[in-house]
Amino acid sequence: MSKIYNFSAGPAVLPKEVLEVAKSEMLDWHSSGMSVMEMSHRGKEFFQIINEAETDLRDLLAIPSNYKVLFLQGGAHLQFSMIPLNLAGEASQVDYINTGIWSKKAIDEASRFCNVNIAASSEDKGFTYVPSQDQWRLNKDASYIHFTSNETIGGVEFFWTPDVDNVPLIADMSSHILSRPVDVSKFGIIYAGAQKNIGPAGLAIVIIREDLIGHARNNTPTMLDFKTHADNESMYNTPPTFGIYIAGLVFKWLKNLGGLSEIEKINTKKANILYNYLDASDFYSSPIRIEDRSRMNIPFTLKESALDDLFLKRAEAHGLLQLKGHKLVGGMRASLYNAMPIEGVIELVNFMEAFARQHG
Ligand SMILES: *Cc1c(COP(=O)(O)O)cnc(C)c1O
Repeated sequence: MSKIYNFSAGPAVLPKEVLEVAKSEMLDWHSSGMSVMEMSHRGKEFFQIINEAETDLRDLLAIPSNYKVLFLQGGAHLQFSMIPLNLAGEASQVDYINTGIWSKKAIDEASRFCNVNIAASSEDKGFTYVPSQDQWRLNKDASYIHFTSNETIGGVEFFWTPDVDNVPLIADMSSHILSRPVDVSKFGIIYAGAQKNIGPAGLAIVIIREDLIGHARNNTPTMLDFKTHADNESMYNTPPTFGIYIAGLVFKWLKNLGGLSEIEKINTKKANILYNYLDASDFYSSPIRIEDRSRMNIPFTLKESALDDLFLKRAEAHGLLQLKGHKLVGGMRASLYNAMPIEGVIELVNFMEAFARQHG
């Protein structure tokens, strides 16, 4: 088979080196005689796996010691409910920034549990930009402020951290966590589903400041209380062991590359290759305001949408997979997560050039 590049938005490409290690350890992890999938989550082998994963993640993101790292299930979606249940009473006000489809889903879920104030929105221009902070109408009594720091479907990314005084700042970083350094100390909670930039589906990671733990409202199910998981080191019930193992291998891969400032350089380079081409072309275009363009998820359109199906068919024949845009926005989307090699982006642009020459 010729070389394949997978541009899926998630579950997404994983580093080949990581899959090779997983393959070599599949039947027998470190001479334990067991596959990771067969181990007790309370045994010494898995204890080592989860501890190393946490230590490596803490190293990569320089997570301060007053933050807990939780390895949970339920995806990023479950955080849409856990966050209001743990941080806001029924009469509470909470602030949400609406920058697209994922923000909206978080807003809809929070609205079931408390009073949501939409402090800013970019809906007026089809979610093609990030509203600057001077346009935000924050509620000074808000229990927290939630935003989606990278909109996976729309392709809009925050390249600045909101400045919010003492109100806990909560970010859904599902689709760009670990793509560059962040100052964790500016956040109350950072959460992410693993299947975009961390590992396989089934694992969600929550990085939470300790003082935000232990305030769940009455009747919060035990499994949805952050305290349950913090008090039990993510072992209250059986955690997603294989997902944690693969995530740990990805963390080691990133450390070997030189950490998050190194991967940021590579990610910037990759995104620039595609954006520069889109901007130079009169056959393709990007709808997103230049300064807010995501490095991870790059939606683009063809001059004529009638050519979309042919473009996808030819791309696939060329080994360029999963370029179809989300059904809610149409067009194309190339996701360039950490594990996408630069050669994949060059190959994509070469293909796009040839297609435009033929059909432009
Ligand atoms: C994919 C995604 C989600 C949903 O993740 P699940 O793990 O499927 O619940 C939420 N937010 C963002 C920004 C995403 O990219």
